[in-house]
Amino acid sequence: MEIKSMHFKSRAAAQLANTGLQSTLKKVKGKFVDKRRDAIADYAGQGGDFEDLREAGREVRNRVLADLDLWLEMFESKATARGATVLWAKDDAEACRIIVDIAKKHGVKKATKSKSMVSEEAGLNRALEAAGIQPVETDLGEYILQINDNEAPSHIIAPVVHKSKEEISDLFARVHKKPRLTDIGEMTREAREVLRSHFLSADMGISGGNFIVAETGSVAIVTNEGNGRMVTTVPKVHVVLTGIEKVVPTLEDLTLLLRLLPRSATGQSISNYVSVLTGIRGAGDLDGPEHMYYVLVDNGRSNILGSEFNAMLCCIRCGACMNHCPVYQTVGGHAYGWVYPGPMGSVLTPLYVGIENALDLPHAATLCNQCGVACPVKIPLPELLRTLREQQVERNLRPLGERLALKAWAWVAARPALYHLGTRFAVRYLNWLAGGKKSIPVLGAAPEWTSGRDFPAPQGRTFRELYAKRSGK
Ligand code: SF4
Repeated sequence: MEIKSMHFKSRAAAQLANTGLQSTLKKVKGKFVDKRRDAIADYAGQGGDFEDLREAGREVRNRVLADLDLWLEMFESKATARGATVLWAKDDAEACRIIVDIAKKHGVKKATKSKSMVSEEAGLNRALEAAGIQPVETDLGEYILQINDNEAPSHIIAPVVHKSKEEISDLFARVHKKPRLTDIGEMTREAREVLRSHFLSADMGISGGNFIVAETGSVAIVTNEGNGRMVTTVPKVHVVLTGIEKVVPTLEDLTLLLRLLPRSATGQSISNYVSVLTGIRGAGDLDGPEHMYYVLVDNGRSNILGSEFNAMLCCIRCGACMNHCPVYQTVGGHAYGWVYPGPMGSVLTPLYVGIENALDLPHAATLCNQCGVACPVKIPLPELLRTLREQQVERNLRPLGERLALKAWAWVAARPALYHLGTRFAVRYLNWLAGGKKSIPVLGAAPEWTSGRDFPAPQGRTFRELYAKRSGK
């Protein structure tokens, strides 16, 4: 697993200095937020209460996690009874090995793929290529990234949200070797033509799974482009690659979560294509795979189960938390350095790759709780971020200077007279730095604070001084 998250600060600084990216982020800023808000209003117009739906979604996900092993066992037996093979991968390397082995067993030369974040986690495309198998991404966003030198997605449901139409237009002209198009509809048709030939010539289809259903042994896949259906039904082999936490007990639970997911993600009442696939092609079926495999990946999930971060396993990968996050909106997804960006990524990445390997991420949030309020399954993201910060302190993982400064502050704060003296000194020092102006361009002791903005000068005296004056004490 490739880890870059140690460097969030420098990556974020680079994204802030990228004027093209900043202009694209400004254009998309708030779009998903507005769509979600409108979808919730529509739902209320139909007599629905979105808060009730969120509560019910949280209950389903918690019920799953309370007996995860039992639901997974039930899923395995039901899926097997319908002709599928269920395989378990303890980590990303094992997931890749299993899928490469399946491909070799069936003589696969080309595999079409529909969107799967677990595939990104595992680096599956690299493993397939190393084994001489051509992976072809068929989600339009993922396809664009793949033909752009296998660029990483920057959002879990809109992987190419960081790219402008003009950039994609140039890319298509260069890679497709066709005249440059500027109309989005025409560009999409051109990509569809390219992808169609891959759909028809692939020996294997690899999909993610938004959910897997224990009572029927099915996988549910939602897409807006229909590529999921082509990937899962045309080739003779279908592999579902998903995380062990994606199981839901019943079809009824599934329908509940399918009402929450698109409204929270794209503001749709339902995704354009909802596929519930159960087992291999039956006698008389016109399509469907002859062989179906589930590769259910742990990759650190069972370590989270039952821990203080258990709630994170409720995540249904809707992206609402990042859409509402002021940090994500400003720096984009690539600053986070690994597969999952935004608040959910700032919790998940340290848990998956090790807290010591992603020290910056729990601090890449203002704790404003926009994410917690938007999350359809009520994951308390700010609380989890705070717990990660606490664990960093407990394990002495914060930089020495920061630890000493906090110790000094705590010592002073416990001594009111000294604290009073200290704040008086600090206010006078800051006023001296401001030199009579309203802001401080360079903060002497902590110049990092002012590298991208001015620091406001103190407005007069300290709170204690003002209080004393006004109360006459
Ligand atoms: S944490 Fe919540 S809001 Fe964020 S992706 Fe997961 S379910 Fe959606």
